[in-house]
Amino acid sequence: MTQFYGKTKICYGEDAMDALEHLAARQAFIVTDQFMVTTGFVDRVKSHLDRNGVPHVVFADVESDPSLETVTTGAKLFLKHKADLIIALGGGSPIDAAKAIAYFAHKASDDVVKPTLVAIPTTSGTGSEVTDISVVTDKEKEIKIPISDESLIPDIAILDARFTRTLPPAVTAATGMDVLTHAIEAYTSREANAFTSIYARYAIRYVFEYLLRAFRNGDDMEAREHMLLGSCMAGMAFNNSGLGITHSIAHSLGGIFHVPHGLANAVILPHVIRFNSFDVGIRYQEIAQMLSLPASTVEEGTASLIQAVVDMNDTMGIPHRVGALRIEEKNFKSHLDAMAHNVLEDICTEGNPRRPSHSDILELLQKAW
Ligand SMILES: [Zn+2]
Repeated sequence: MTQFYGKTKICYGEDAMDALEHLAARQAFIVTDQFMVTTGFVDRVKSHLDRNGVPHVVFADVESDPSLETVTTGAKLFLKHKADLIIALGGGSPIDAAKAIAYFAHKASDDVVKPTLVAIPTTSGTGSEVTDISVVTDKEKEIKIPISDESLIPDIAILDARFTRTLPPAVTAATGMDVLTHAIEAYTSREANAFTSIYARYAIRYVFEYLLRAFRNGDDMEAREHMLLGSCMAGMAFNNSGLGITHSIAHSLGGIFHVPHGLANAVILPHVIRFNSFDVGIRYQEIAQMLSLPASTVEEGTASLIQAVVDMNDTMGIPHRVGALRIEEKNFKSHLDAMAHNVLEDICTEGNPRRPSHSDILELLQKAW
């Protein structure tokens, strides 16, 4: 059976935050981080709730890569206040934490009605505002625990580009390339279908049209808004289609060498397009044609797309090679086997159009060095 699932009500535009004034709720629980408090973004959320007469509590202790401990503390506080509305404000971490808090609080007691979950992303990257995944970290065992459940999909996503206006260029670049990787991997995934392809294609177009504009001028609100929409569309696509080995490799580079997720994807993506092109070159040709790049043959289309991604990386100061990511060569080489093992075990590898072997991954990693 082929299916497409999308339940999130998406509100966007300058008055998108007004959606908070139309919610029927007894008690709101805002999940965020300290940075959102100091920038005054939390106050903006509060003022809309005040206008709606909804009391609120702020839980601003979410760290990057939220821990099981943080989520447990948040869930207890949520239950204590008998909240029925959770608002996640921030990048991927607060949204992941809020999803997990809602999930565990609901599981904790039969008396707890599933809260309404609202996600307000402040970066254009993860697409977490429309996906069914949350990742929490068990710091003691040093493992990441992915939770995937339909109930984790937020009920409402509020896309207000003004929250992304102050993102520094390097963050705009890395998160934007994460969007592009989500969209290209969704478009070429084994599980891609007609609906996921529509979202993925639009997201790819938006990144190519608007990412460099947002990178060069953070105040370009037209570019900021389109990147936020592109991020959400890519999320809708990959939530249904899955991803590919660019993500599997990025997870491994993140886990072992702490390379930021978007940056790892940006560096690896051209190498994976080349690797996959034997199997799905035609899909890359389609993307190149959509972008009006030279693509009269599959080979030419693939080469054009690779060059376009590399050019975009170049413009934003993102290197071509893993070797430029401040990783010691000796250290990288000694982890090659473990990385190839991780990549084959990673859930994202299931979506990859070409089935890689252990030695394929080793070769790909060495070429990317
Ligand atoms: Zn990603």
